[in-house]
Amino acid sequence: MLELEEAVVRILAAVPSARRETVSLEDANGRVLLEPVSSPIDLPAFDNSAMDGYALRAEDVVAAKVDAPIRLHLIGRVVAGETFQDEVKRGTCVRLFTGSPMPKGADSVVMQEDIRSEPDKPGEIIVLEAVRAWENVRFRGEDVRSGTCLAKAGQILNAGRLSLLAATGAHEVTVGRQPNVGLISTGSELKEPGQRLGPGQIYESNRIGLGALIRDTGSKPSIFPPVPDKPEATEQAILQAFKECDIVVTTGGASVGELDLVRSSFARLGGEIEFWKVAIKPGRPFMFGRLGTQLLFGLPGNPVSALVTFLLLVRPALLRMQGANEVELPAVMGILAEGLSNPGSRRHFVRVSIDAAGKVSLAGSQASHLLLSFAAANGLVDVPPLCSLAVGSSVLVKRWAL
Ligand code: AMP
Ligand code: MG
Repeated sequence: MLELEEAVVRILAAVPSARRETVSLEDANGRVLLEPVSSPIDLPAFDNSAMDGYALRAEDVVAAKVDAPIRLHLIGRVVAGETFQDEVKRGTCVRLFTGSPMPKGADSVVMQEDIRSEPDKPGEIIVLEAVRAWENVRFRGEDVRSGTCLAKAGQILNAGRLSLLAATGAHEVTVGRQPNVGLISTGSELKEPGQRLGPGQIYESNRIGLGALIRDTGSKPSIFPPVPDKPEATEQAILQAFKECDIVVTTGGASVGELDLVRSSFARLGGEIEFWKVAIKPGRPFMFGRLGTQLLFGLPGNPVSALVTFLLLVRPALLRMQGANEVELPAVMGILAEGLSNPGSRRHFVRVSIDAAGKVSLAGSQASHLLLSFAAANGLVDVPPLCSLAVGSSVLVKRWAL
């Protein structure tokens, strides 16, 4: 049986390269940058004040002390957004605010807390404390020099990167197009939530959870109606989804039962099955196939198996299809609050919850039809076959939710 890593490599090798589109920065959060962006300007763009205070020449106030203050002539006032036309000469100063451009001639800013003024002498200030040259000055280019790379191709845009791009004047970016992902659930027992259940029927729950995870990757789910376990219906549904979508994800009908129709239907449509079965628990009967350049992911029907195989095997493909470099779930280090053991022969991706302090607890019983424990979890721990991890061990948690 295929190892997980090998399966991911094979899937990523089949992912078509990202198609590009240009979006405004407002719409770019979570999107994957496809072209590196470098700064067209210095940041800050000009020397400016870090404080509300007074621009002056440091040498004029070298000797200033509370008991030996120094008087300066106030020759102007510059708010942020304005510039000062004149020059600060010996014995003079200019009122500034945070972000005001430094006037010519001045080399430092004394904080307004370190001066005194007298109501009857509005043209003067009294400096109570010395400043060093360039104190309280923010320098042109100290953050970013013109030409510096701000973000690389393959990076996912987030609040920090977007703020940086905006600060250098960018208003749009080239990003990977978001794939359309068709979601089909198969099973004659499935009813849409909100309807009445007949005997033996169950509510369909895979599409809603998978739809949320698809959106988390920046992709767009297209939800198709549940499909009964009939060859023609299954074939029709897959065909229709491939007409409308870049990628198709099915759930159910992927194991060895006689009603497991996804593989045979896909093959009849001309699809090539790249592999079937991966050595993980939950989720062994995972299937991956291609129809031309389009991809089919056949997930097991058990709700937890469907969600876990999505996170481990489909999510990377959806991110790479948008051009992302990093496609694995983020791993965070935690400490086990209780032992975990895997007596089985496949790697077990155990549902855990990790708290803000890094404490990792088992989320509940682990059978692949038990959704309560998945709902209590925010991560997975990869426990090797025939392995026990003792309480207090450090573990890497593959985190997929807050
Ligand atoms: P299957 O992979 O089709 O053999 O399904 C395995 C188990 O998962 C069965 O108990 C199904 O009833 C259940 N199941 C399959 N698809 C869904 C679904 N979309 N929502 C909820 N349960 C499902
Ligand atoms: Mg089924």
